[in-house]
Amino acid sequence: MNFDLTPEQDQLRDAVRALGRRYGHSYFVAKAKSGEHTTQLWSEAGRLGYLGVNIPTEYGGGGGGITELALVCEELAAAGCPLLLLVVSPAIAATVINKHGTDEQRKRHLPGLADGTQKIVFAITEPEAGSNFHRLGTVARRDGDDWLLSGRKCYISGVDEAQYVLVVARTEDAASGKLKPALFIVPTDAPGLTRSKLDMEILSPENQFLLYLDDVRLPADALVGESLDAGLPALFAGLNPERITVAAMGAGTGRYAIERASEYTATRKVWGGRSIGSHQGVAHPLAHAAVQVELARLMIHKAATLYDAGRDLEAGISGNMAKYAAGEAAALAVDTAVQALGGAGMTTEYGVATLLGAVRAGRIAPVSREMILNFVAQHVLGQDKSY
Ligand SMILES: Cc1cc2nc3c(=O)[nH]c(=O)nc-3n(C[C@H](O)[C@H](O)[C@H](O)COP(=O)(O)OP(=O)(O)OC[C@H]3O[C@@H](n4cnc5c(N)ncnc54)[C@H](O)[C@@H]3O)c2cc1C
Repeated sequence: MNFDLTPEQDQLRDAVRALGRRYGHSYFVAKAKSGEHTTQLWSEAGRLGYLGVNIPTEYGGGGGGITELALVCEELAAAGCPLLLLVVSPAIAATVINKHGTDEQRKRHLPGLADGTQKIVFAITEPEAGSNFHRLGTVARRDGDDWLLSGRKCYISGVDEAQYVLVVARTEDAASGKLKPALFIVPTDAPGLTRSKLDMEILSPENQFLLYLDDVRLPADALVGESLDAGLPALFAGLNPERITVAAMGAGTGRYAIERASEYTATRKVWGGRSIGSHQGVAHPLAHAAVQVELARLMIHKAATLYDAGRDLEAGISGNMAKYAAGEAAALAVDTAVQALGGAGMTTEYGVATLLGAVRAGRIAPVSREMILNFVAQHVLGQDKSY
């Protein structure tokens, strides 16, 4: 058992931390409040190679794994910049294309994903299906060599800043049976693809959208992989990286909030000479949250290590547990930090309440805590499936 990072991973962590701190939470909040994106930070992270750490070197990436990408997600979040699109573009899209795309798709997309000049977002959720992906209603029909895609997607993050969206559809002949997913790389400006922005109560530079696909015509090579058989493994390939990196983002956010609160409570004095942090009613909740965040980090490390070792089934269990633990820990840490700061906790200036919406959403997306508990009950505890 090894809890140490390699020297290269340590260097990566330090370098990403330095980059994140140069921008900081005030940058993230300013962009979110003005309705802009974190383009400058994204581009710089791309130029420095941090967005492509998990992409093979032959495509301009760093040749590392999800362990490295999780470090990037965690450190940027720990600096107050939890970039949700890291979870969809380099974690999901790059993994799916690298593992199950054609050679041509790898060449077309991976270099841009690695240097940050290309963003591919991910669309699986649908209004009627929700957590039940077996009910997906977005259908792909053949029309000669082309494909025609029709359906609706909801809560899709970052469509306005991406060149492509990786759409999970089902093939028409399987429409009434079990899900036979097929993944398509769809240009965000494709005729027939329209979007409307959702008003979300999350302070974030990244937006969520409803997507309407109305007979979107795609060439044959928009289908991920050589044939329809690639669909199911391609879809599953994206899940573990998604869970592990979103967990890392949660853990980083938790660290950020606890650090802000600890600095404050160690110096704030309202009862004579003693800091408010000397009162256990203030310090213990923060210490408790710190324990929860650290436990989540351990599980993230385990899940990423298993995933990078090719042990997908075990990584699936650990990745789900990591996502659950980090989602809960992040929400607890931010809420506890707000409380510890008192009125200051609710100001924009102190930069903790600004994360309340994001960490709350982290208990719902990309997979809800209930669906993870269902998974653990079934696959770890051997319980019958309830749905
Ligand atoms: C900020 C944000 C960003 C998102 N970004 C994306 C994105 O980029 N791409 C994308 O495809 N999707 C995205 N989503 C969607 C997200 O993945 C879904 O919201 C999530 O999977 C839950 O689906 P739902 O909202 O339809 O909830 P529902 O399925 O309607 O569930 C509602 C509630 O019921 C619970 N529930 C449902 N079924 C069960 C069951 N069998 N047992 C126990 N409890 C159950 C759920 O856990 C949840 O609490 C995003 C969502 C948010 C909030």
